[in-house]
Amino acid sequence: MKRVILIRYGEIFLKGKNRSYFESLLIKNIVDALSADFGADAFKLSRSQGRYVVEDYDEALEGELLDRLCKVFGIYSISAAYKVDTDFENEFAAVKEAIALLARRVEEDNTIKNATFRVTVKRADKRIPIPSFEIAAKLAVPVFENTPFKVDLKRFDYDFEADIRESGYTYVYCDSLRGAGGLPVGCSNRGMLLLSGGIDSPVAAYMMAKRGMKLVAVHFASPPYTSERAKQKVKELRDIVEAYTTPMKLYVVPFTEIQLAIHEKCPSEYMITIMRRFMMRIATLLAKENRCEAIVTGESLGQVASQTVESMTSTESCAGLPIFRPLIAFDKDETVEIAKRIGTYETSIQPFEDCCTVFLPKNPAIHPKLEKVAELESALDIDALVQKAVDGAEVL
Ligand code: ATP
Ligand code: MG
Repeated sequence: MKRVILIRYGEIFLKGKNRSYFESLLIKNIVDALSADFGADAFKLSRSQGRYVVEDYDEALEGELLDRLCKVFGIYSISAAYKVDTDFENEFAAVKEAIALLARRVEEDNTIKNATFRVTVKRADKRIPIPSFEIAAKLAVPVFENTPFKVDLKRFDYDFEADIRESGYTYVYCDSLRGAGGLPVGCSNRGMLLLSGGIDSPVAAYMMAKRGMKLVAVHFASPPYTSERAKQKVKELRDIVEAYTTPMKLYVVPFTEIQLAIHEKCPSEYMITIMRRFMMRIATLLAKENRCEAIVTGESLGQVASQTVESMTSTESCAGLPIFRPLIAFDKDETVEIAKRIGTYETSIQPFEDCCTVFLPKNPAIHPKLEKVAELESALDIDALVQKAVDGAEVL
């Protein structure tokens, strides 16, 4: 019996004149994601009345396909289903057979004592003259025959659903996985993400991609103070989070010279503030090169000295674009929870040095005044340092 995957997307963003734009973006993202992992010929995607159907795939891959689809933003729920002919003239013979098969599968895995079920019928095909509840009663029979489950229309453990489509096919399934939600990546402009090797910035990427923002990433490395392995770690984080963000170009910018210059010419307590101002300038230039209209960081209010309001004010003034900080009001444990769920946590906690930990001052300025910082910074040839770093950027 043929297996398919039903994909349902949110209704909210599909209203109005943007509908077809959102839809084509979502389809492209689904096809790209599945093609990259399984090959373009490994499946077929079609559209059927407000949902998508993946079919013609190797059934052994079904679990992996479902996992992959759960990471595509814009999808609200997913069900693996049997696709059969409705065959109304034949008393829904094939549909009943599918329900029997499904019932046996559910029974095998069932651990609930005195489990209950219901059958839900959606009858889009109005050529069938019987009301849905009557069809449901007929379709409950194979469940009775194959399981000890009792009917309970209100408090049921299992809902056997039969979706009778106008196409003449019926989809039969028993549960739905929750999709990633959000909006299809690409519908909310582009952002330049500051990607460190830490826990926060990959989560920030996930959060912005969830709202449809396409990202390009930049990482600041300070060789030889930071190692090749630290760089690999950042690349690895990019590779993991790409399952959600769609492909994300990664710039690695040499930052050592800037840090050495600040170290030499500026008071050490302003090291971090000035350093972060340079990061913003460089990110802004790269953003413009990549048609990005915002900068994204993993900052959270009060987490460290560089994440006070004054610190953010003094870095912000060097960014020529709005800065989005999706984690601004998150506690660390809330961020960690997401990092674990999206699979970046284990990589993030690997102990490798970050450029921010090099030349770390003992007493960083916690409430730096913008005028003061600008004055101290004037000892540096800012434009030349920035340009050199941008010119030295490597793309991974
Ligand atoms: P993270 O866990 O993301 O490293 P953090 O809590 O360690 O964050 P900071 O090190 O102060 O905080 O960094 C704040 C933000 O600045 C990061 O979330 C990231 O967006 C950016 N950032 C810090 N270091 C780098 C770096 N080496 N390259 C690129 N961006 C960086
Ligand atoms: Mg960090």
